Amino acid sequence: MPSVFIKTYGCQMNERDSEAVAAQLVDRGYSLAPSESGADVVLLNTCSVRDLAEQKALGKMTTIAGMNRKRGATQVLGFLGCMAQSRGAELLGQNPAVDLVVGTQKFHRTGEFLDDILAGRRTRIVETAEEDGSQSAIREHLPETGKGGVGAVTAFVSIMQGCNQHCTFCIVPATRGAERSRSIEDIVAECRTLADRGIRELTLLGQIVTSYGKRLYPVRDGRSAFVQLIEAVHGIGGIERIRFTSPHPKGYGDDLVEAFGRLPKLVESAHLPLQSGSDRLLRLMHRGYTRERYLAIVTKLRAVRPEMGISTDIIVGFPGETEEDFEATLSLCREVGFDQAYVYKYSRRRDTPAAEMPDQLPEPVIEERHRRLLAVIDELALAKFDAQVGRMVEILVEGPSHRNAARFEGRTRSNRIVVFEGSERHRGQLLNLRVVRAGNFTLYGDPAIVGLEESDGAEGLNH
Ligand code: SF4
Repeated sequence: MPSVFIKTYGCQMNERDSEAVAAQLVDRGYSLAPSESGADVVLLNTCSVRDLAEQKALGKMTTIAGMNRKRGATQVLGFLGCMAQSRGAELLGQNPAVDLVVGTQKFHRTGEFLDDILAGRRTRIVETAEEDGSQSAIREHLPETGKGGVGAVTAFVSIMQGCNQHCTFCIVPATRGAERSRSIEDIVAECRTLADRGIRELTLLGQIVTSYGKRLYPVRDGRSAFVQLIEAVHGIGGIERIRFTSPHPKGYGDDLVEAFGRLPKLVESAHLPLQSGSDRLLRLMHRGYTRERYLAIVTKLRAVRPEMGISTDIIVGFPGETEEDFEATLSLCREVGFDQAYVYKYSRRRDTPAAEMPDQLPEPVIEERHRRLLAVIDELALAKFDAQVGRMVEILVEGPSHRNAARFEGRTRSNRIVVFEGSERHRGQLLNLRVVRAGNFTLYGDPAIVGLEESDGAEGLNH
């Protein structure tokens, strides 16, 4: 039984793809190795969004190949995912030890390619062509481990692939292709299976989930295909919470905002990727909304759910960003008061329009703005965490704490981690507990009152 180790770089979509590849390989008789040393096959599932992510994966592969050379070991080595898609055969040329390059529409064929290489039927395979229906191939979950496995209470479900938005800084439309959605029936069947396995919370995944199903399902009673899908998943017994990522601000139409007020399983957590607070930059980025429209969405979301946790992504140092543009981003952050923000330094990606724009900013300017923005974001987020102290919150208990295995942890509906003195019997339960302390982006709940008090409705709905 050959053993395989998969290392994942990048986003939750990549994590989900790796899990589906692992499940596919286990199904074909492979075992999963806990690390690369000693594995028969090492696969790196790559990310191309920033240059740093590509360099890390390339460096890792060079190190593994060098170690193998030194030890005289033979391992089958492969690149999967976004960088495999964008660089293709170039990766074989760069590193003669690489045997396999599998693009983003060919994950489901990884097992077949490995079988061929291990049996000596084929060598050095590169498969990056588009494939009709590949979006529906990301459906297998690991039976024993992984996010959707035994003991897990949360799972990712891939609902669509690709993106048609073509933001000028983004390589994703090139690596993931055009938008392609699975059917509602197919997704609901997968969600039901997960519910039967004990999954309580689902995160619907895609590169731009709010564009889900536009070509498959017409708007019905004012509800978009994405809202129709959420309604269908909402009807599944055993599923208590629904999240989704990554959406686009343009996708928060009135139907989706209204769904937050109407569907109690849709938790109070909205990711609204901002990228910039300057209208001039938003136009250059081809984002399709203005600062005013963005703020209007935030206001509407908070009107239907006052406890809505709002997170975002922001890029600093986009070509031509002036101090005035940057100040507009800072002021918008203060105006919204984000609960969480992922701040990225602009990374020049080949074959994107922004890479050819004039006025690329020098690294020290980008560094300095990155530091200033992070300071503001941390100040806002920590104030929000502190404000939770003394409140009752509902958490879904996920298992032992990642920071301290002697304790348990769960997430609030607005996606904050709460650590408490729980035990195995709490896993998978929805508990109301009081927040007694706020640490560095972690809340602590009082074990003495776990489950003994009713929620005062401070966060979320009782259902
Ligand atoms: S919407 Fe997101 S995935 Fe699509 S091009 Fe823009 S940043 Fe990239």
